[in-house]
Amino acid sequence: RSKELGRNSYQLYKATMNARSLERLTMTSRIKQALDRNEFALHLQPIFCAEDTSLAGAEALIRWQDPQLGVISPGQFIPLAEELGLITHIDRWMINKSCALLALWQQDKSWQGRLAINISAAHFCQDGLVTTLREAIARYQIDATQLELEITESSFIKSFSHAKQVLLELKLLGVNIALDDFGTGYSALSYLTKLPIDKLKIDASFIAKVPDEYGNSEIVSAIVAMAKNLNLCVVAEGVEKPCQQQFLQQLNCDYLQGFLLGKPCSSDEFTRRYSLPQPRKLQTYEC
Ligand code: C2E
Ligand code: MG
Ligand code: MG
Ligand code: MG
Repeated sequence: RSKELGRNSYQLYKATMNARSLERLTMTSRIKQALDRNEFALHLQPIFCAEDTSLAGAEALIRWQDPQLGVISPGQFIPLAEELGLITHIDRWMINKSCALLALWQQDKSWQGRLAINISAAHFCQDGLVTTLREAIARYQIDATQLELEITESSFIKSFSHAKQVLLELKLLGVNIALDDFGTGYSALSYLTKLPIDKLKIDASFIAKVPDEYGNSEIVSAIVAMAKNLNLCVVAEGVEKPCQQQFLQQLNCDYLQGFLLGKPCSSDEFTRRYSLPQPRKLQTYEC
């Protein structure tokens, strides 16, 4: 009986494993296909100056429009793409699109802010990111000081010296560096003084509990104060309520991002909303 049970559970295990590897295989080819068929889209979320809520920049956020499944959010496929070794392709696609868009805005001189791109830690830790960016900047002839890269603390875990080298090279290109989801990692804070980082983005999970939940306001105000003392810019992510906006304005937080002031939207809608040149004129190159 127990032998049979063992065999059954082994069969079940095998079936699950097969299903899983089949799913991985399917997803690998589907993500590749999505890249080929242009099923990804660049969406944008505005970022505002806290002081006067004027537009300060935008974050590029990827969306996957699957013909059958509809819109798939990055939370559903980015971790998988990282696991499957496809994130570099996706990030490159976004870098290319973002640089093309920035070039269009810069030609028109209508864009004064920064455009931020998310770079996965898995991508950051590989060789080639600096080259990819250098080539994209040259290809689209953009002023890289209006380009920002959002990286996370997990980018530093594998090799601190590699991370430092990459960041220094990126700074030489003129690119701005923001630390995304700040406060959720486990790294020692000392890296903040050892790496060329320009900006901290306070993770939305802290902002969500402000100002009600005990201790959270203190943490947020401490992060803002620390950023100021280290001469770093600071952004609050996930601002959803007027009371959160007020609280952050009182702290002199530099920038606000969240559904309260602006939700992510398609690049067409974004450019209409802020009277920027239409991306229909967008010229992208194969890379
Ligand atoms: P993130 O970089 O921290 O981006 C902010 C996320 O918070 C976005 O989710 C945005 O839509 C959402 N958000 C903004 N304001 C609010 C708010 O007020 N309330 C709430 N509840 N959410 C808000 P999204 O677009 O689903 O992206 C999720 C994550 O996926 C991103 O987090 C980023 O880590 C990753 N991601 C998105 N696009 C890319 C990409 O092109 N490349 C890579 N490597 N990762 C990406
Ligand atoms: Mg981000
Ligand atoms: Mg974030
Ligand atoms: Mg994130």
